Amino acid sequence: MSLSTLFTELGSAAKTPTGLVPFRFREVGGDILLTNFLGDWVFVTKDEFRSLARGELDPGTKLHDKLASKNFLRDGLDQAQAAERIAYKKRFLNWGPNLHIAVVTLRCNETCVYCHASRANMDAVHTDMTPEIGEKVVDLMLQSTSPSVTLEFQGGEPLANFSVMKHVIEYALARNRAYGKGLEFTMVSNLALMDEEKLAYLVDRKVQVCTSIDGPEHLHTKQRILAGGNAHREAVKWIERINKAYIDIGLDPTLYHVEALLTTTREALKYPKEIVDTYVSLGCRAIFLRPIDPFGFAGKTAQIVEYDRAAYHEFYRAAVEHILDLNRRGEQVLERYASIFLTKIVADDDPNFLDIRNPSGSGIGALAYNYDGKIFSSDEGRMMYETGDPAFQIGDVFSSTYRSLMKHETVRALVMASIREAQPDCVNCTYTPYCGVQPEHSYRTQGTIFGRMRESTLCAVHKGIQDFLFDKLRENDPTTVEILRRWTTVRARTHFIHASSAS
Ligand code: SF4
Repeated sequence: MSLSTLFTELGSAAKTPTGLVPFRFREVGGDILLTNFLGDWVFVTKDEFRSLARGELDPGTKLHDKLASKNFLRDGLDQAQAAERIAYKKRFLNWGPNLHIAVVTLRCNETCVYCHASRANMDAVHTDMTPEIGEKVVDLMLQSTSPSVTLEFQGGEPLANFSVMKHVIEYALARNRAYGKGLEFTMVSNLALMDEEKLAYLVDRKVQVCTSIDGPEHLHTKQRILAGGNAHREAVKWIERINKAYIDIGLDPTLYHVEALLTTTREALKYPKEIVDTYVSLGCRAIFLRPIDPFGFAGKTAQIVEYDRAAYHEFYRAAVEHILDLNRRGEQVLERYASIFLTKIVADDDPNFLDIRNPSGSGIGALAYNYDGKIFSSDEGRMMYETGDPAFQIGDVFSSTYRSLMKHETVRALVMASIREAQPDCVNCTYTPYCGVQPEHSYRTQGTIFGRMRESTLCAVHKGIQDFLFDKLRENDPTTVEILRRWTTVRARTHFIHASSAS
C-alpha cells in the first residue's frame, strides 16, 4: 500500500483524529515516519497509519501511548517546556555572525578539476589582500554581536600570502584584548607551500589547519595538479607532521589533528571504501562526504565532475555502511553530514552548521571578505562574484558598518528565503525540523533564492541522507543506534580558543 493508494482507498472516510499536534509524514522503509514541530519523531506501521487516517485513535491503545510519549498529542503537551526546547535549539539567532572567512589571496599553486574558489595563477599578486584590508576585516569581525568568532583564512592558497595572514593574526590578537571575545583561527590549505617555520608559527598561534584529501593517491593526483610535485604526497606528509607537532605539545591526538575535506566528484563515486580507508589511515576522525557544489569553476567543469544524485546516494550509503563497520570493530570515525542531522534528530540540539540551518547562516551566521575588501553573505556568494555575479555583495570593509551589513536588504531576503516552514515543498516535508538549505545554492542552480526544492540537487542530497539515517533508526539495531548516538557527542577543542577575558 502506497500512501496515495491509502488516501484514495479511504476516500471520504479519511479524517484526522482530534487531539493531534500538527505533524508531517513520509514512508521510510516499510513504515511511516511522523515528525512534529518540536523535532520529535515516531514510526508507525501502515496499519496504525491507516487507523490514524480514518480518524481512529483510542486512548489505551499502543498507538495512542506511542504518540503521547513523543508529544504528538495536544493533551499533556507541556507548552512551557516545548517553548524552551525550541528557543534552546534556535539560540544561534541571538548571536550574530561567528564565522568570518578572509580570502587572503586568490593565488593558488594547485589546479583542481572542481575548483570552487576561482583561483588565480601564482603570479597574480594583485589578488593578494593588503595588510590594511586585513585590519579592516578584523575591525568588522570584532564588532559582531557573537561572543565568539572564528577567522578562517582561505584562498586561493592562503600560505601564498602568509605574511599578511600573520599580520592579520597579530592584529586580531592585539585588538581582541579590548573586546574579550572567544577568538579562533583556522586555515584551509592544500599544505604544499608549508614549511617548518610556518608550521611553528601556526602551532604557536593555535591556528587550526584544514586541508583537502580526495581519497587514495591515484584519485587525488588525478584531480589536483601540483606543478612539479605530487599534491597527495605533500598533503599527507604535512598532515602527519602537523599531527606529530600537536602530540609533541601534549595535545590528545583523538581530538587535535588536521581536519581534511572531501569533494565527491564523479570519479570518486567509484571508491567509497578506499576513500574512507584513506581518511582513517591519516588519523582523521571525521569524514565529510560533500557532493560537488556548483560554485566557482566547478560550474564550468560540470560535464566532467557532476553526476546524478542517485549515484551519490549509492556512494554515500556504501561509504557510511563501511564507516559503521569500522566503528563496530572499534574504530572511532564518523561521517559529518550524519553527525549534523543526527544531532538534530536524536540529540535534540542544533550544531549550528551554517549551510544546514533554518534560517541559514548567510549574513547572520557568516560573512566572507574578498581579498579586495568586498564583503559577501557567504563564501559561495563571494565565489559567484568572482565568476561575474555580484548578487551577494553586501558591502565593503572601507564603507560598511556592522549594522549596515546585518540590515542589508540582501541579508534580510536570504533569511526569509531560508526559513523552511515558509517555503513551498519544505513546508510539507517531514524533514523540515532538521533540514536547511543555502539560498545561494538555489540562486546559482535555479535563479531564485527561494528555490524549487523538488528540482534541487541539494534537497535531493539532504532528503536521501535523512532517509538513510531514519531507516537505520527504524531498524533499531542496538549497536548501530549506539554508534549513531555517539556521533552526536561534541568534544570542544578548547586549546584553540584564545583567552576571552578583555584587558
Ligand atoms: S530541503 Fe528538501 S529535504 Fe530539506 S526540508 Fe526542504 S524539501 Fe525537505
